[in-house]
Amino acid sequence: MAANPASGPVAVRGSWLFDGTGSPLIADPVVVVAGGVITGIGFAGPAPAGVPVIDLPGATLLPGLIDLHVHLAFDAGPDPVAALADRDDDAALAAMVLAGRNALRGGVTTVRDLGDRGYLALQLRGRPDLPTILAAGPPLTTPGGHCYYLGGVVEPTEPAIRRAVAEHADRGVDVVKVMASGGTLTPGTRQELAQFDAALLRAAVDEAHRRGLPLVAHAHAVPAIDNAVAAGVDGIEHCSFWTAGGNAASDEQIAAIVAAGIFVGATLGQVSIPGVAPPAEVMRRLPQIIDIHRRLYAAGARTVVGTDGGIGPTKPHDVLRTAPDMLRGIGFSPAEALRTITSVAAGVLGLDRRKGTLAVGHDADLLAVDGDPLADPTALQRVRQVFIGGRPVR
Ligand SMILES: [Zn+2]
Repeated sequence: MAANPASGPVAVRGSWLFDGTGSPLIADPVVVVAGGVITGIGFAGPAPAGVPVIDLPGATLLPGLIDLHVHLAFDAGPDPVAALADRDDDAALAAMVLAGRNALRGGVTTVRDLGDRGYLALQLRGRPDLPTILAAGPPLTTPGGHCYYLGGVVEPTEPAIRRAVAEHADRGVDVVKVMASGGTLTPGTRQELAQFDAALLRAAVDEAHRRGLPLVAHAHAVPAIDNAVAAGVDGIEHCSFWTAGGNAASDEQIAAIVAAGIFVGATLGQVSIPGVAPPAEVMRRLPQIIDIHRRLYAAGARTVVGTDGGIGPTKPHDVLRTAPDMLRGIGFSPAEALRTITSVAAGVLGLDRRKGTLAVGHDADLLAVDGDPLADPTALQRVRQVFIGGRPVR
């Protein structure tokens, strides 16, 4: 967790404030931070006497953003898998620090790393120059399965998968990640096929819960999603209902996800880079995937957002700011979209008493952007200042 420097109070004054829970912006906020936490929030009044003021006229203050799905170990280059393979652990850690700083500069003050190599992300927790990091370590996968090269390969037997979850818990992970289907980053895997059956996933969930850890499943394939629901996972990442020919979810499958209260991790957020396209197959299917998420959300699913930041050039580690625009596309109101990447995400991580809301006593993780991010999603692209633990970034 972020270190708390013994710092004196500072007042941050903007033109508006979004507290992470409400809808309308509140005018003329003064947020006082000290010792790494928020010690006061006032409106339309002066800053406390004797406290230095950081003035940000025209800016909206909001909680630091929370990305529920990144890979610090992937460098967002054209071939992040090969780049990681070419790095020893020291070089990989150095690249991960750069990735984390990039996220932080873009207003992302907390990340959940859903797959590293060698538990490297765990080593970066608690650094004051990086976002708060929650980490899964190497994702559990089948021999030759999705992201096998990260080192989390498990024989598909119940004793083996329980042992693997136990080892992750002993290493101190914050969450267990299981690859329940193939994925785009791993040639040879089949995105439309399940990797573990429901009984094995259920054993993994049971072992994780016994140790007080949530378990999230990467699941594109329809049978993988069915297995994950049957196994009682806490979250399904991607949830794209991938089949060989297209993407299709039945009303019954959507109802089962809603009834189970599973968090649906929509994979959103993308920057456009001239001359660089995301994988063509994904782009071809994107309208169908967006439509499935629209139906999930309309049916009452607990839709949250992770970007998969790091997996390619269009997904740098600070890409979360582009997700609210896409959330609006699946039916979210502007305020719901902002709540989803702040207070709702903090709740998913069990950090809602410290993060995701601007409130007295909470961590002083703040993002100041130019303009009104409810009226204008592009305001999030105009970062004026980021604070983590009360310290201005950069
Ligand atoms: Zn991922």
